[in-house]
Amino acid sequence: MAKKKTEQAICSFCGRPADMVDVLVPSAGLSGIYICSECVDTISGILHDYKEQAKDGEPTRMDSVPKPKEIYDYLNQYVIGQDEAKKYLSVAVYNHYKRLSQDKDDDVDIEKSNVILVGPTGTGKTLLAKTIARMLDVPFTIVDATVLTQAGYVGEDIESLLTRLLQVADYDVAKAEKGIVFIDEIDKIARKGDNPSITRDVSGEGVQQGLLKLLEGSVVNVPPQGGRKHPEQRMIPVDTKNILFICGGAFDGIEQKIAHRLNTHVVGYSTDPARQRVQRENYLKFVAPQDLKSFGLIPEIIGRLPILTNLEPLDRDALRRVLTEPKNAIVRQYEKLFAMDGVKLTFAPEALDLIVDKAIEYKLGARGLRSIVETIMIDSMFDVPSSGVETFTVTREYALEKLQKANFEINKTE
Ligand code: ADP
Repeated sequence: MAKKKTEQAICSFCGRPADMVDVLVPSAGLSGIYICSECVDTISGILHDYKEQAKDGEPTRMDSVPKPKEIYDYLNQYVIGQDEAKKYLSVAVYNHYKRLSQDKDDDVDIEKSNVILVGPTGTGKTLLAKTIARMLDVPFTIVDATVLTQAGYVGEDIESLLTRLLQVADYDVAKAEKGIVFIDEIDKIARKGDNPSITRDVSGEGVQQGLLKLLEGSVVNVPPQGGRKHPEQRMIPVDTKNILFICGGAFDGIEQKIAHRLNTHVVGYSTDPARQRVQRENYLKFVAPQDLKSFGLIPEIIGRLPILTNLEPLDRDALRRVLTEPKNAIVRQYEKLFAMDGVKLTFAPEALDLIVDKAIEYKLGARGLRSIVETIMIDSMFDVPSSGVETFTVTREYALEKLQKANFEINKTE
């Protein structure tokens, strides 16, 4: 069909002669009518944009969106504790979808409900965001704020934050534009000090300024391969208006800022027993936007993250539950692994207590549970499949022996 460099033939669309184009395709039905490859490219671009717009224009149907209570119940299957954060997130996501379902000409414009989660590392911030994304079946990506830099500095451009989202959406722009981005370690781009004029920290504040554009919703040019933008690279315009941003950070030391604020507020009320009961570790519960500002986030960013909630440190009881209760709990995963070899694996309750004790002793938190269990299980995972046994029980003694053998102490963080 395709006719290379047809003599005297010209493209019936643009009029270019055959020797100025790569390929001229003759019409299947009309003689003397051709279309050139350049015109085909242009038209296919127009069609693509048109389809994207059509998809974009489709409002989300609210009846397909789970209610806050359903989102909360789903989160409960995977995340232990963190009740408040779960509620805030459930409502935020639900409202986000209400926004997506709004008529374009509605005169009440529902504002975006980006979220910021404040809580110690390993308490479930990423897990919450991941679980929500799984439930909603929307493109989801985790990015680390620390790799971002202001344009012109070493590091990745802020727009590259959306590259991953595009990639997980298979470059389906309309799909990516309704996705969720989890920005981890947002506290690491705080400027150092409360007063911008005295301690101006260019990179931190610059990154925050750049991020602002994304959070508030605008069309940004995203480098499809990520990293640094370079002039020859073709950019993909992505509208962030409907992307839900969930930011997370440990904000180490923010307790002092909260305590400071609470104390200044309670001058003269120090006999108030409710205030006295506020323990240091409970301060996070009272985190407010002004504390984020004292920590070094610029007010504009804080304004774009209207939903602020906190995660609590996981206590012994919570860590114990993390081991066994979530749908994909660590213990269940090992039981599954053994079951695939026809072996029934059991953990004695005392062994589980020991695992939790070690995670606390070495200050490893929930994240450490897996490495402790892995250390305990490595020998049995090696031996059991070829041993012919049908059951295997991990006792406290067995667990202790394996940890000692592996010199687990050297993994201590302090
Ligand atoms: P961070 O708060 O630093 O984002 P993560 O969500 O990445 O912490 O948690 C690390 C791991 O610890 C998770 O993958 C999960 O296995 C476990 N974990 C942490 N918090 C919880 C929790 N509340 N419930 C269940 N598992 C948890």
